[in-house]
Amino acid sequence: MNIYLKRGKDESLKRFHPWIYSGAIQRIEDQAGEGALARVFTSDGDYIATGHWQIGTIAVRVLTFDDEPIDDVFWCHRLQVALDMRRAIGVADRTDNNTYRLVHGEGDNLPGLVIDVYGQTAVMQAHSVGMHCSRQQIAEAMRVVMGDRINNIYYKSETTLPFKAGLGQENTFLLGDAVDNIAVENGLRFHIDWLRGQKTGFFVDQRDNRSLLEHYAPGRDVLNMFCYTGGFSVYAMRGGARCVHSVDSSGKAVDLASANVSMNFPDDDRHQAIAEDAFRYLQQMEEGQYDLIILDPPAFAKHKDALRNALKGYTRLNAATFAKIRPGGVLFTFSCSQAVSKDQFRMAVFTAAAMSGRKVSILHQLHQPADHPINIYHPEGEYLKGLVLYVE
Ligand code: SAH
Repeated sequence: MNIYLKRGKDESLKRFHPWIYSGAIQRIEDQAGEGALARVFTSDGDYIATGHWQIGTIAVRVLTFDDEPIDDVFWCHRLQVALDMRRAIGVADRTDNNTYRLVHGEGDNLPGLVIDVYGQTAVMQAHSVGMHCSRQQIAEAMRVVMGDRINNIYYKSETTLPFKAGLGQENTFLLGDAVDNIAVENGLRFHIDWLRGQKTGFFVDQRDNRSLLEHYAPGRDVLNMFCYTGGFSVYAMRGGARCVHSVDSSGKAVDLASANVSMNFPDDDRHQAIAEDAFRYLQQMEEGQYDLIILDPPAFAKHKDALRNALKGYTRLNAATFAKIRPGGVLFTFSCSQAVSKDQFRMAVFTAAAMSGRKVSILHQLHQPADHPINIYHPEGEYLKGLVLYVE
């Protein structure tokens, strides 16, 4: 199918922004079903891009600005570029780290596709109908490019595809059938449950921030709030924390955190996992009980309209923490909401600090790691932000 844009609506594409909004489209020729490849032309009829077509605000996600076929050669090339980048970053092909994001959507010029690697297994998520339709081709290209690095590909898109497209998609293996695996991140081991876990089974995006936390851990009493798999807890244990408490409202998460801590530190009674709501726990805990606290909540704003409430949520959460953290304490506080900008998050935390009246200094400004790259033409890809704060 061919798509012709309205006059003047090709400006962002000339700057390589990878999305075409439905409002920019003048007319469609030979319309095909959702997920089909569309060749896109300016109002003057000049070719400008090829991408996946989908019904919705974002009508086309651009795969290439070159006039090239989207075939096996294309998929292999894009995946090879992605793998080469991970090797350059130093996360792939290491013995003490086999956990990394291989494909990060727009950041790897593959809008709508996420692939995380855990040891011998790749977990693939499609966020667009086009990537869903291309899944077998992508799996085949993965086999070629990754070779014997992987022997399982689990396709997990039940909750990430647009419901309205009616694809009735079930999670399934495209290669192999391993149901459990132990991934290694910076020498620490984690059970990854891609069948039942959140997202692709683990939050790979906190790797560097967990390493930084390890550095602050010696001798501290640590609270890992919203612990999920206990990633930060395991690093805090290795860093020499005096005690580590992992809290999550989900019983399953708390069990997983306990299992991961005991796998790395068997019979170590410094760790305790508690199933409790974050706000209730913060309210009930003793003042000064902890001097290293991590707040890594789920995205409070999934869309722009939820922004105001999300900012209030961040302020409330951080204010409750500032009220209780021990003097001389260090707070790692995060937001993974794409709709919340770095400045807005900082303002929400600033408001919380001011409410507590305590002296607070910013030690580090954190973001997503290099294997979650941001396409320079698509600044929307920056989603994870964090602050490390010293509280007097
Ligand atoms: N820090 C984790 C990722 C956190 S994901 C890591 O490094 O991997 C967010 C977690 O917050 C989920 O496990 C979810 O169960 C938990 N959660 C959501 N709402 C909560 C609440 N009100 N209180 C406590 N935990 C909550």
